[in-house]
Amino acid sequence: MAHPSVPVPPGDPVDTLLANVAARRDELVALTQALVRIPTVNPPGDAYEACARLLGERLAARGFAVEYVRAHGAPGDSDAHPRVNVVARLEAPGGSAGGDCVHFNGHIDVVEAGAGWTQDPFGGALVGGRVYGRGSCDMKGGLAAAVIAAEALAASGLRWRGAVEISGTVDEESGGYAGVGYLAERGYFSRPRVQHVIIPEPLGVDRICVGHRGVWWGEVATRGRIAHGSMPFLGDSAIAHMAAFLHRIESELQPRLAQRRTAEPVEPPGARVSTLNVNSVHGGQPDQAFSSDAQGRPTGELPAPVVADRCRAVIDRRFIAEETLAEVKAEIVAMLDELRQTRAGFDYELRDIMSFLPTATPRDAPVVLATARAIARVLGREPRLIASPGTYDQKHIVRTGRLDQCIAYGPGILELAHQPDEHVEVDDLLHAAQVMAVAAWELTGSAAGAG
Ligand SMILES: [Zn+2]
Repeated sequence: MAHPSVPVPPGDPVDTLLANVAARRDELVALTQALVRIPTVNPPGDAYEACARLLGERLAARGFAVEYVRAHGAPGDSDAHPRVNVVARLEAPGGSAGGDCVHFNGHIDVVEAGAGWTQDPFGGALVGGRVYGRGSCDMKGGLAAAVIAAEALAASGLRWRGAVEISGTVDEESGGYAGVGYLAERGYFSRPRVQHVIIPEPLGVDRICVGHRGVWWGEVATRGRIAHGSMPFLGDSAIAHMAAFLHRIESELQPRLAQRRTAEPVEPPGARVSTLNVNSVHGGQPDQAFSSDAQGRPTGELPAPVVADRCRAVIDRRFIAEETLAEVKAEIVAMLDELRQTRAGFDYELRDIMSFLPTATPRDAPVVLATARAIARVLGREPRLIASPGTYDQKHIVRTGRLDQCIAYGPGILELAHQPDEHVEVDDLLHAAQVMAVAAWELTGSAAGAG
């Protein structure tokens, strides 16, 4: 059924939809700017509520049912920095029965501005066909494009079915536990409510991201025996033991990981292997800077002359779809156990901090195929399927929501994310909005029976 007040336009429905999005170009720019001007910096999680309300009030005025979901009790939530998410749903005229629900999810948090900007990081300036500002690319531009796509579909006069949802969620940059993770635990990313999810992260207008590598963070602690720093032979240095472990990582494990190639199309190609980074090492006296005056006298903190009895390192292991988490951990444990056998005084503790398995959306999933067709239609070229080296909110949708029909697709160049002078091209915003509108129209089940 067409909306009673809007006559169904003649002609190719996809052309109608594309024209409806194109007519909203200025609105798309203005919405991107308005979002950038709210400094939702995370940490600590500033201005989340203002940003959620900007989206919610806009969508409520256009007929969406809007909910604000504060993640009470989730990591990071406090009265000073409430973790407020917004979820908006628009059902087709006549109800959502007979069609699917397409959910667009964007994170509203941004990382700190940092140094080196020539533009105001929260000014949202439009210069030379680009919108500048922290979050313009990652990913307020993508979120604005999704909003415009949904609004254009709803106002196009085309027959459509099902439902379209848009969520603006918090804390993606810090793990998403109070954002998509919290909503996923409450069924917002599960069937039967939703069938397809598109996350408009800045991966490029002609690339579809179908998943990410796995991650395991572990903390290794070595023990030693404290002694006077002038007589280290009377003690046993936990730092020296850690150095032995780190040496094994560099000389043995990392070369082995570099040989382990995945068949997944991870971008950049350098990440098509297993990797391990040592995120931090702390041993002995607490981490602090020492200074002294011209006479060689300490001017600040005083150094302590002791052999370190404890050292900790956090390892960040990114693993490929061809590996299991159990194998990844066992490989580290085997190295540590061997050191315990062969190195006098070596002992360790190993603690899990966090893990997520690799995700891979089926290549023939409707959300992949519909988005690919829409890219070909809008841009006139074939899309590329890619996978991400790091995780993003898809991890919660797959693990907690149990929904594998999820992709990341959105405007912007990933390399600009988190950089000074972050920006997004207006042409990219518009093309991505057109792709999302066409894909949503097809995925809701409308394309088959409408015209
Ligand atoms: Zn992002």
